[in-house]
Amino acid sequence: GGPVIIVGAGHGGYQVAASLRQAGFSERICLINDEAHLPYQRPPLSKAYIKGSAGPESLMFRPEKFYQDQTIELIAGRAASIDRTGRKLHLASGETLPYGHLVLATGARNRLLDLPNANLPDVKYLRILDDSEALRLVMPSKKRAVIIGAGFIGLEFAATARIKGLEVDVLELAPRVMARAVTAEVSEYFQERHREAGIRIHLGVQATSIEAEGGKVTGVSLSDGRHLPADLVVVGVGVLPNIELAAEAGLPVAAGIIVDEYLATADPDISAIGDCALFASPRFGGSLRLESVQNATDHARCLAARLTGDRKPYDSHPWFWSDQGDDKLQIAGLTTGYDRVVLRGDPAKKAFSAFCYKGDKLLGIESINRAGDHMFGRRLQAMDRTITPEQAADESFDLKGALA
Ligand code: FAD
Repeated sequence: GGPVIIVGAGHGGYQVAASLRQAGFSERICLINDEAHLPYQRPPLSKAYIKGSAGPESLMFRPEKFYQDQTIELIAGRAASIDRTGRKLHLASGETLPYGHLVLATGARNRLLDLPNANLPDVKYLRILDDSEALRLVMPSKKRAVIIGAGFIGLEFAATARIKGLEVDVLELAPRVMARAVTAEVSEYFQERHREAGIRIHLGVQATSIEAEGGKVTGVSLSDGRHLPADLVVVGVGVLPNIELAAEAGLPVAAGIIVDEYLATADPDISAIGDCALFASPRFGGSLRLESVQNATDHARCLAARLTGDRKPYDSHPWFWSDQGDDKLQIAGLTTGYDRVVLRGDPAKKAFSAFCYKGDKLLGIESINRAGDHMFGRRLQAMDRTITPEQAADESFDLKGALA
């Protein structure tokens, strides 16, 4: 019993609060929010929001009235330390909140570029609403963007910047884009599509310095000796999970806050969810830390269920999406560790899926402009079923039949 205090009002934190009330939890709920906005959706920050002109309200999960009606206390501020013996959370403001259960939903922060001039105003990152606002504001006055990192966020922003008429160069150290996340087939498709849109993608290179004059960025030098002019640099080189609060309280951390399959830390009164959590996964074997809305939201639901008496291990199937220009990528399952990829559909027709197998086990499906394949993949996984690589590659094979 006792109050549930949630640190971080992002996707995970918001969802725990909402799901707790939905399940009838009647004690105090506090949501500690260190951003100057009501809890909001992050994915549009690099997609629709940055492209459009809608106001911040368009991103909010719920209006302020929801929190009042549900008696979810939104507390502006930052959690500073945890007193585990006294079961109290200390805020940076000096305020102290006693907890029955503490939820760490602290997310992740951008990895910063360690180069001279990287802190100039023309060098931007993209994680929070304020970042997206700042980019939206400066883009009309910029001509040439260099984007460092060809991950999801870098490429989503690249596509938007190009649509807005900027010259765009993307730098990537790996030999292909989104190399850690998708198959070579999907990387190649997106490289081609971005190049068609006029984006220059430079693979196997690194930024070695940012040049500036009078505090304004003028260009970026590359590890291969080249120099690219630029008046805007956007950095998307990955994130670091926010584990410090947990670590300083003596909780085990590694590449995330370590939690078991119930999302509990070593302290039974403290759980961690979402981007900051390194969770034990019986389904996938070993520990996982994922960065997705699905992961944060489903973690939150699993934890809210446990805190209201329905204790089950976390066992949701991962899924993900990314919008880049006119293309929609959707991923069902975890497509890492495969030894065979079969394509369904035709990249030349801008609609195909990459089915990833390890032996005869289907690990996941990466779909491009094939929403039907994606939904099929999610339903197939939910039913713990599979189809053979031959069936996957055969367009005359009826996917719906495999779900019957
Ligand atoms: P977050 O949403 O990051 O929330 C954590 C919150 O905790 C933040 O507000 C942070 O400021 C706060 N916090 C941290 N420390 C403290 C403290 N000490 N005290 C108080 N508050 C604190 N995922 C997808 O599945 N699909 C997408 O298309 C997609 N696009 C994305 C685009 C962008 C630009 C970004 C940045 C992310 C995208 N993601 C996408 C990832 C997804 O948004 C994250 O996985 C998700 O937000 C994780 O939720 P979370 O609650 O764990 O963390």
